[in-house]
Amino acid sequence: EASLDTFLEITMSLGLLRSVGSVARRSFPRNLTHANASTLVIAEHDNSTLSPSTLSVVTAASKLGEVDILVAGFNCEAVSSQAAAVAGVGNIITGNDAGLETGLAENFSRAVVAAAKSKGYSHVMAPSSNFTKNYLPRVAIELDSAPMTDVIEILGEDTFVRPMYAGNSLATIKSQDSVKLLSIRTTAFDKCADSGGSAEMEDLVLEGTCDAGLSAFKSASASESERPDLTAASVVVSGGRGMKSGENFGMLEELADKLGGAVGASRAAVDAGYVPNELQVGQTGKVVAPDLYIAVGISGAIQHLSGMKDSKTIVAINKDAEAPIFQVADYGLVQDLFNAVPEISSKV
Ligand SMILES: Cc1cc2nc3c(=O)[nH]c(=O)nc-3n(C[C@H](O)[C@H](O)[C@H](O)COP(=O)(O)OP(=O)(O)OC[C@H]3O[C@@H](n4cnc5c(N)ncnc54)[C@H](O)[C@@H]3O)c2cc1C
Repeated sequence: EASLDTFLEITMSLGLLRSVGSVARRSFPRNLTHANASTLVIAEHDNSTLSPSTLSVVTAASKLGEVDILVAGFNCEAVSSQAAAVAGVGNIITGNDAGLETGLAENFSRAVVAAAKSKGYSHVMAPSSNFTKNYLPRVAIELDSAPMTDVIEILGEDTFVRPMYAGNSLATIKSQDSVKLLSIRTTAFDKCADSGGSAEMEDLVLEGTCDAGLSAFKSASASESERPDLTAASVVVSGGRGMKSGENFGMLEELADKLGGAVGASRAAVDAGYVPNELQVGQTGKVVAPDLYIAVGISGAIQHLSGMKDSKTIVAINKDAEAPIFQVADYGLVQDLFNAVPEISSKV
């Protein structure tokens, strides 16, 4: 009985969320600029290059009004200059501190809190990423604000849309916190221009407060790839358990290279050790929305779909005509992938 109650409660709240959503959609005009909103966008970077994901967050933030960017790092002047060129940004606030060099969440969150408080921003926004997932909750505690993650639409100053239940439902949420803390699903917003801006430069006074003394960076290991970044690629060729082995991914790499795309994978392919973890697409992997997504030997589990169903065109190759992937695919080929993929490769 308890579980039935819970089920009814969830169903009702979903109904409620939907109806709030439709009202909210109607009552907010397309241009949402508001005089009192000022947003601090947290730049993602490696101390030398500004990540393009930051540009999508600036687009999201611009819907509400003034936008400043925080560049927190060490010897990161090059990033601040790139940020200053971003169109439509008012101020670049640079927090330069040795404790911020490697982006440790314990330290980085201190810089974000200091910057957010420095001018009393109404909104703080960052790209939805593994990096953000690590520091944002720490910022939330300090600012006493409930973070809203993976936001895909901004309906107004306090009203936002985010997916839930692995993308099966869209929740419209309204925040009453004085500082709205958001992570933005970057595939849902176009990147703004990275040139033509003329932001003012400012330094954030940190006075050595950025080493929390709780963690230390030891080492990083990343696999080298000449291919475009999975989350930024316009074509993604992904393989699943149907690929049978890591060597067989060679044929997907060949196709991806011909199309100038990236290679992705399902969790089953990662768990079986065919490819490294950073290629995983899905709820617990990366969320991608390329122009073309080719799913090869992937059944289309809900947790995989939530990472790719916003792709513009989806092609599925699977020998099982009943595979759920065909429900989201624009073009489907029911065939043995070991025949189909080489044939497609030879024709592109
Ligand atoms: C909490 C949680 C989080 C998860 N997160 C993710 C996630 O982020 N990403 C993710 O992908 N999964 C995730 N999963 C796992 C997910 O539920 C599925 O198990 C997984 O996506 C299945 O991967 P697959 O489609 O490669 O394998 P399968 O479901 O085994 O499908 C293999 C497919 O290959 C086809 N096939 C086999 N041989 C051939 C052939 N020769 N030619 C053509 N087709 C062939 C089969 O018909 C089948 O449809 C998560 C699960 C949980 C519980």
